[in-house]
Amino acid sequence: MTHTTWEPGLVSPALVTLTTLLGEPAHDLAILAEGNTSELLDDGRLVVKASGAGLAVATAEDFVVVDMDEVMAVVDDPDTTQADLSAVLVASGTDRPDGAGPRRGSIETVVHAAVHTVARDAGIVGVARFIGHTHPTDVVGLLASVRAQEAWTRIVYSDEAVVIGRPLFVPYATPGLALGRIYAVALREYVETHAALPQLVLLANHGIVAIAPTAAGVEAVSTMAVKGARVRATAYAVGGVAPLSDADVEKFFARDDITERRANLARGR
Ligand SMILES: [Zn+2]
Repeated sequence: MTHTTWEPGLVSPALVTLTTLLGEPAHDLAILAEGNTSELLDDGRLVVKASGAGLAVATAEDFVVVDMDEVMAVVDDPDTTQADLSAVLVASGTDRPDGAGPRRGSIETVVHAAVHTVARDAGIVGVARFIGHTHPTDVVGLLASVRAQEAWTRIVYSDEAVVIGRPLFVPYATPGLALGRIYAVALREYVETHAALPQLVLLANHGIVAIAPTAAGVEAVSTMAVKGARVRATAYAVGGVAPLSDADVEKFFARDDITERRANLARGR
């Protein structure tokens, strides 16, 4: 018996709206059952999309509530298997009459849970409530290219500095337990280096994780990541990327209106 539960009453309208918005075909962030979203509850548990449902048509019934320490205990134990991870995500007693089996959290729940446990362990609170994980075509294209590792090492235009800041790149691993393990290590290293969480994580040959205090922030980070991928692909196509200089980036961050624009973003304006 796990602590995973099915409690549609705990799924906020903001999370459902964000989920369907990220799944809109026009955004090209995810198709079919790709991608997943989550919201941190005040009691420390995590509402995360259940396995199977597509983002575009998700309702409050398509989420489960997980105990993140229980999930991360499986990730942090080197002797566990993918089957152990699947088992801990099952909401007991939710077998459906149509034979679809019990409701179960997405196998990608680990890319959500790790953010909050790493932040909590580092004493970082209040900067990550909503998370959206998607597979945008433009971003995955660049992350599946020979430029994947270097593409986001430098900031290329000023608005991505405001909305995204410095992203974290994570090399490819099989989605699920294997990815969860290297992802958690990479996140901890980022937090130790920068004393902050990344707002965007780039998963090689896979997709993105957008992290924000608000649903609007997740949408902004996701769409700006797509724009950043298109800008880079265009620059590579005409001979290469000429990024902003470190001095220009520092000057930009020092301006008062950057702080204000970040704050507005966090409030969803
Ligand atoms: Zn994925």
